[in-house]
Amino acid sequence: MKDRISKTIDFLKSEGAPQTPLCAYIYDLASLTQRAAEMMSALPENCELYYASKANPEAQVLAALAPLVDGFEAASGGELAWLNECQPQVPLIFGGPGKLCTELELAVELGVEAIHVESLTELDRLQQICARTGKTCNVLLRMNISLQGLPSTKLTMGGKPTPFGFDESELAAVLQVIEHSASINLQGFHFHLMSHQLDRKAHLALMALYFKTFKYWCDLYQLQVPLLNVGGGIGINYADPEQVFDWRLFCAELAKLITAERLADTKIRFECGRYITADCGYYVMQVLDIKHNHGQYFAVGHGGTHHFRTPAAQSHDHPFFVCRGQAELSNNAYFAYPEIKQQAVTLVGQLCTPKDVLASQQYVEELAIGDYLVFTQAGAYAWNISHQNFLMHAPPLKHFMN
Ligand SMILES: *Cc1c(COP(=O)(O)O)cnc(C)c1O
Repeated sequence: MKDRISKTIDFLKSEGAPQTPLCAYIYDLASLTQRAAEMMSALPENCELYYASKANPEAQVLAALAPLVDGFEAASGGELAWLNECQPQVPLIFGGPGKLCTELELAVELGVEAIHVESLTELDRLQQICARTGKTCNVLLRMNISLQGLPSTKLTMGGKPTPFGFDESELAAVLQVIEHSASINLQGFHFHLMSHQLDRKAHLALMALYFKTFKYWCDLYQLQVPLLNVGGGIGINYADPEQVFDWRLFCAELAKLITAERLADTKIRFECGRYITADCGYYVMQVLDIKHNHGQYFAVGHGGTHHFRTPAAQSHDHPFFVCRGQAELSNNAYFAYPEIKQQAVTLVGQLCTPKDVLASQQYVEELAIGDYLVFTQAGAYAWNISHQNFLMHAPPLKHFMN
């Protein structure tokens, strides 16, 4: 992998302006399709996998995933329109809080597979749209239930007060509204209570809670609904990239749980983002300067958190490796430019804020000006969550490897 990235860096330098320090996102589409294909092949028979496109909506990423996954999840009207434009044949589902009427109209117009309804207000707006247009729509009710003592992760969307989904106490009233509606087809329930899940057993316990709750409601309210959406949230271990959530084993255990809970006739739908695309992306900054300041080394790269906010957003030191560069940035220098040998160094970008740190005090064997800092696992919630306009720096190059 390091070799392929290193060759790609050489290619980008020779193609572009060789004198310009490199700053780029590199996406490995072959590894992306391999990941998605492996995930699909491990799924139990009655399960589906949708891609939550907010993790990375690059057109090339969508094109690579389109033939493999069961569909795409959109979290806004913008995403809905973009997904439909890029891959019009792929089934769509639409969720997220604070949907505009125009966004709901678009979803109805496109005839999406399901709209995940978050509140009674939203349900009412949807009904009005259907009445006005003479259309019907499929909905899932997004529910925020108690976690009942299950371990949580560092990012939870439910099990506590949040703006996401219905409180269980509202369910009876919501079902009444739907029962009297000619245009709203209730297809089932939607849960997405946790993200950053690294613990396979804990995630399986969460699935067990969803299954039990789903069955309980179906019994209690005499519902015959075909679909249970269990969200996404499978995590990536940025602190220890060797620790990988074992999706294959998770699916094998899930299959047993489905049998035990007699849910083989219910369609169970995942909508994962991070776990699908994180590993296919690399963010590369060429080192512009090396400094020693109050006893610590700093390497200033071409780029920063305005392109790659992931480590700042998650407060972690992002994993990286060093590719040795040409000495072109120190050619013609009047003195020997600083180099680091077997030292700890903090990797920063070009922003005028002490928060522009991608990794703190990381040991490196050698680092020189002109070398490349290659941040791995930069394919999800990276470029598209970054505050790109801050300081008006140029955007990174984007390169897609097949
Ligand atoms: C963001 C989101 C997802 C995807 O989450 P990941 O942690 O990237 O898998 C799935 N469902 C909903 C409702 C979301 O908001």
